[in-house]
Amino acid sequence: MKILVLNSGSSSLKYQLFTIHSVKCELIFSGLIEQIGDSQILDHSQALEKMIQTLKEKQHLQSLTELSGIGHRVVHGGEEFTAPVIINEQVITAIEKLCPLAPLHNPANLMGIQLARKKAPKILQVAVFDTAFHQSIPEQAYLYALPYSLYEQHKIRRYGFHGTSHHYVTQQASLYLNKPLNTLKLISIHLGNGASATAINKGQSIDTSMGMTPLEGLVMGTRSGDIDPAILFYLNRKTGMNIDELDTLLNKQSGLKGICGENDMRRIIDQAEQGDHTSTLAIDIFCYHIKKYIGAYLASLNGVDAIIFTGGIGENAPLIRQMACENLNNLGIKMDTEKNQQKNKGNSIDIQHHSSLVKILVIPTDEELEIAEQTIQLINKTTD
Ligand code: ADP
Repeated sequence: MKILVLNSGSSSLKYQLFTIHSVKCELIFSGLIEQIGDSQILDHSQALEKMIQTLKEKQHLQSLTELSGIGHRVVHGGEEFTAPVIINEQVITAIEKLCPLAPLHNPANLMGIQLARKKAPKILQVAVFDTAFHQSIPEQAYLYALPYSLYEQHKIRRYGFHGTSHHYVTQQASLYLNKPLNTLKLISIHLGNGASATAINKGQSIDTSMGMTPLEGLVMGTRSGDIDPAILFYLNRKTGMNIDELDTLLNKQSGLKGICGENDMRRIIDQAEQGDHTSTLAIDIFCYHIKKYIGAYLASLNGVDAIIFTGGIGENAPLIRQMACENLNNLGIKMDTEKNQQKNKGNSIDIQHHSSLVKILVIPTDEELEIAEQTIQLINKTTD
């Protein structure tokens, strides 16, 4: 039995093929087709053909009809989707309706869904949403202090993202600590190009740092994270920058890149080690924001059993983990600086000092594996 996971972006198609052993999935092949829209690959339909061709050539699959199911990553599930769903016409209409909330992502995700359904109409397809895990967040944490009518009329609220990753590492933490999820309070910190922190009580997200869009919260590669919203009015009045320019400023030219001109954390650390002032500053600001969210979520959760670091930076940058947890002894959080330097080699490790009340874990995330497993679980439930 095989499951295909598709992540269809505006100019790329990422795909992974898994084999299934009971409910466990194992990766057999992973591919990425980029620059869709260029002369080589004109559109998503050609990208899908290319994927099928590659899977055939590698002798992993002769046709999509051999699959047990296809799992699609969908960025925005709004308030409608609190869990993965089997895709049908109604689901497609609902995802379409959510496009204004994620104009860069949902239309591209939908394109992948429509094309895969055309190619393999008899194969069950599942949508797994980045937002779904956060639908357990209570009103007080997801509502902004704006006129309530904006929520009623325009659904302005916190949705949160990276849900698949936070959910995956939450489960891995429970396995690693050998404690049932319903006994655990966790803070999960996903640090990749995008970055978010989530407070998790008994396996349920109760707050997360990304908001209505992925712009809010922690400092990211090119996104500002939290700022005073009045900066936008000020810049508009003072410089004449319009909405689109401000959008680009906050999403593409800010964050680490805005501070030091670089958004790749490896290079920023190298530059800081060579004495570059703005790179050092970028790291300081990045880590300080993480620390503030740890403090906030400690309060939201009334204590925490474990802090989880994940994502490209969280899994691979001891310096960032150390700085984010520095001087938190009084809160029961103390890192073992030697353990923190170990390479995790793709496994979960703990890096807290023996005197620390709180565990500090490094857990490699695997969003595609999580999508594959959620897909097969739902298909098994549906076909039982
Ligand atoms: P995405 O969010 O695009 O999936 P990743 O989770 O792969 O991104 O994270 C990318 C980030 O991880 C980049 O900033 C990269 O520099 C950083 N990173 C990867 N390896 C290391 C490392 N060894 N040390 C520091 N940062 C790293």
